[in-house]
Amino acid sequence: MTRPTRFIAPGATLGVLGGGQLGRMFAQAAQSAGYGVAVLEADEAAPAAQVTGIHLDARYDDLPALDRLAHDCAAVTVEFENIPVDAMRRLEARLPLAPSPAAVAVCQDRAQEKALFGRLGVACAPHAVLAAGSDPAAVDPALLPGILKTSRLGYDGKGQAIVADATGLAAAWRGLGGVDCVLEQRLDLDFELSVVLARGHDGAAVAFAPQQNLHRSGILFASFAPAPSVTPAVAAAAQAAALRIAEGLDYVGVLCVEFFVLRDGRLLANEIAPRPHNSGHHTIDSCDVSQFELQWRALAGAPLPQPRQHSAAVMLNLLGDLWFDAAGRQREPDWAAVLALAGAHLHLYGKRDPRRGRKMGHLTCTAADAAAARDTALAACGILGLEPF
Ligand code: ATP
Ligand code: MG
Repeated sequence: MTRPTRFIAPGATLGVLGGGQLGRMFAQAAQSAGYGVAVLEADEAAPAAQVTGIHLDARYDDLPALDRLAHDCAAVTVEFENIPVDAMRRLEARLPLAPSPAAVAVCQDRAQEKALFGRLGVACAPHAVLAAGSDPAAVDPALLPGILKTSRLGYDGKGQAIVADATGLAAAWRGLGGVDCVLEQRLDLDFELSVVLARGHDGAAVAFAPQQNLHRSGILFASFAPAPSVTPAVAAAAQAAALRIAEGLDYVGVLCVEFFVLRDGRLLANEIAPRPHNSGHHTIDSCDVSQFELQWRALAGAPLPQPRQHSAAVMLNLLGDLWFDAAGRQREPDWAAVLALAGAHLHLYGKRDPRRGRKMGHLTCTAADAAAARDTALAACGILGLEPF
């Protein structure tokens, strides 16, 4: 792995593969410390392209664009796990790239993630890997009812099907195109949490406290920090497992591990994101160092300070649904009313085209304590027409 052997000082240009909201917030954080930022994304209106000095409007595997990125940048990171690994390897040969292509490759594939959890002794859901062409009837019936997930390219609950029995499994697999899949036992979840951490090229790591995550229709709806249901013992176990995973991947950069807590109290790892995570967005407004600042610090070989959370926070995702009224007519949410709430921090990603389920922005409600942050978030739900939590 190519590692930054020396500190990359502000004034240099940092590159990011991927131009979505995560790239935008990375760029904004790096720019505020004086770095230039270059983004590779084949969309001139992409959220990150709107805010970066250099935008390479090309596919991730476009060789001239990759060469230009290598030429212009002092180091490169990713904001999206599905960057072709070959493109990353091409960059890795020329300049510091973190996380490494090898680490990202594991996170691109649920079967590889599960194998990593097994090697590291991190508990995860009982599961079976269904390789394309294999016989679904051979699957252990104890895994049913289950959730069938494509091994690659799933997000926000896409590429998943709930299956009740063996007949349903065969049909669901056909429906997902018969591609490589993982079948997970459907678990009785009590709640979900995630741990965001950053690890430097020297192996030193810092982690945020876990946040608790509430999903609706397979999409993150809200994150709570502090996490109301997480005991100190569960928090410590989740942080330790996340650190073990980062070490197992020899990871450099920001990484998130999603966890389930079952009704029987067990903590299971769900999946890894090799980048900042939606559930960590609250850190921009609730902590003295955000997950995006840690991302540029890890990339630039800067020290990684232990973050300190100065405010309680509830983050609400703002999906495209909010841009439509009950009759399906497009409208603008009442931002003026939201902005009148003390401690409400609005983040919109500059996406011009609202669609149902599309992440358009987020709202972080901060306060001196968790109850007050919750009250503000509930008031925001009332204004925006979101079902209260
Ligand atoms: P995202 O990109 O939003 O993280 P994803 O498409 O990668 O989502 P998962 O994280 O695997 O998908 O699953 C999405 C949600 O579905 C989980 O957060 C959880 O609420 C639910 N879920 C997933 N797997 C299981 C399971 N085995 N048992 C019960 N619920 C599950
Ligand atoms: Mg997930």
